[in-house]
Amino acid sequence: MTIPQEVIDRLQELNIEDVALKLGLDVRKHKAICFKHDDHDPSLSFSVSKNLYKCWVCGVGGGPIKLVQDKNGMNFQEACAWLAGQFNIWWPGYGTDKKIAKRTMKKVSLRKNEELLRPFDEEVYAWLINNAKLSDLANKFLFEERHFKEDVIYGLNIKSVSYSEKVIDALTSRFGESRCMESGLVRRCEFGRYFYFYTPCLLFPYYEQDGRLVGVQSRYLGDNPKAPRFQFMSSQKTRLFNLPVLNAMCRGERLYISEGITDCLALLSNGLKAVAIPSATILPLEDLVLLKGYDLHMYPDQDEAGQRALTELRRFFVNHYTTLKMEKLPEGVKDYCDYYTSTNR
Ligand SMILES: [Zn+2]
Repeated sequence: MTIPQEVIDRLQELNIEDVALKLGLDVRKHKAICFKHDDHDPSLSFSVSKNLYKCWVCGVGGGPIKLVQDKNGMNFQEACAWLAGQFNIWWPGYGTDKKIAKRTMKKVSLRKNEELLRPFDEEVYAWLINNAKLSDLANKFLFEERHFKEDVIYGLNIKSVSYSEKVIDALTSRFGESRCMESGLVRRCEFGRYFYFYTPCLLFPYYEQDGRLVGVQSRYLGDNPKAPRFQFMSSQKTRLFNLPVLNAMCRGERLYISEGITDCLALLSNGLKAVAIPSATILPLEDLVLLKGYDLHMYPDQDEAGQRALTELRRFFVNHYTTLKMEKLPEGVKDYCDYYTSTNR
């Protein structure tokens, strides 16, 4: 079992205190009794901003996955599987071959993952989004190839970045190098500084219902086969894309839930109201609660992950007294975006 990096990132973004509660720890005012030493006065403390825990007496500490390892006496892989089960996160191959699980476990470096833990610097990210434009390449992808509607793309404040050197210069001259590094947008390796998102790419901002920026996702537009197609930078929690759409909606109105942003853009371009879960494997449960009371519909992707996402979402909504209706795509059509582009040529 190989746990996708995307899933590990999400697990590390789970709120450390939520994880502690799931583990049965009694967290009060960001403190708890340490489970590693004979503790009487709570010496375990939680930093919600850094998403870390630490015992000031015995020194045990780390992020959400490490907390599960320490508390449950599990290895990294077991801890990931346990956490995923607790927070309804799933990936292809989850819960399968245990031998493979042991072999692939060594490839996952915990230290590397812990470096990803950073609070979200809204000001830096908002500045990046508000000062970026849409490149010719981005326009070609969005409007010529996908036929998305301009008012949808502009309304969501979708932008692009073409050259990483340029954006690093702009960011560091505005905010200083250390703050940019701290934000996670600018990083350093043995060859020098680099921009977190592979470029050229689109940038999709995630907004809270009240308009605060809470995350940014990229979509790579270049031809490097090694570059990940999507990259994500967020606050502690996984969020729904396009939450502000709810501000203009009445209870009982039809709302589509899509798997991924591109399907969401296609639904919106067709004049429908839609929000997106980041991917089939990631369910932002706290945001999903906000959707109960709407007439929920979904076009699941025509694959195993799509079906699984639908099943999980349905289970979740049934527990919240809401139904999620399935819409069916025509035979041979992979996802809604495919369907949309084939009917809008
Ligand atoms: Zn301790």
